[in-house]
Amino acid sequence: MKSFVVIGLGRFGTRIAEKLYDMNSEVLAVDIDNEKVQQIADNVTQAVSGDARDIDVLRALGVRNCDCAIVAIASDLSSSIFITMNLKELDVPYIVAKAQSPMHKRILEKLGANSVIIPEQEMADRVAHKLVEPNILDFIEISDEYSLVEEQAPDAWINKSIKDLSVRARLGINIIAVKNGKDINIAPGGDYIVRNGDVLVIIGKYEALAKLRKR
Ligand code: ATP
Repeated sequence: MKSFVVIGLGRFGTRIAEKLYDMNSEVLAVDIDNEKVQQIADNVTQAVSGDARDIDVLRALGVRNCDCAIVAIASDLSSSIFITMNLKELDVPYIVAKAQSPMHKRILEKLGANSVIIPEQEMADRVAHKLVEPNILDFIEISDEYSLVEEQAPDAWINKSIKDLSVRARLGINIIAVKNGKDINIAPGGDYIVRNGDVLVIIGKYEALAKLRKR
């Protein structure tokens, strides 16, 4: 069972703490506001009030034994910085932090956060992609260059094998899974024949994926 500490029980922190607990993880939830702590107490393993800017508080809570810490405080820049630094100093193996701007994100990355998210920006990008490109069922930005998309197989591909389509050589994209109803084919080989109703999970550069969509 994986163990998490979630620091900051605003909307994001509360949701992620409760979701992780629902998914059978061990969750320690921390907030400076005792009311927030009481509200979540029944939905996590343990809920504690304390000021996470104080490294001794975090030490006493044993956060260094957690597999992952989530800093869910974005609006207070200095708290988010101090807490991330504390967690790093305590050698927490994996730190996820929420930021409110790209500059904030850069600071937290420099401090050693392993993953920094700007939830509103990331969700807005995903929704925009889905609205503008209706074939796209889901979209994840992997880097400035690459993304992972889940989209309906183009009509022109139906009844052709991945080998014949030579998607990797021609388009520079990789099909990493194919879904059709409840069937999931992980890492389909070159002989896989694309079927009507297939949803392809594809990784590639933005331009290549955009080209694919125009086919
Ligand atoms: P939301 O997820 O609601 O958008 P946010 O990222 O804007 O939240 P805040 O609302 O500033 O973040 O803070 C989230 C929570 O973090 C609040 O419940 C607040 O009480 C708590 N918090 C702030 N500072 C500390 C601290 N030093 N130690 C522990 N918890 C704190």
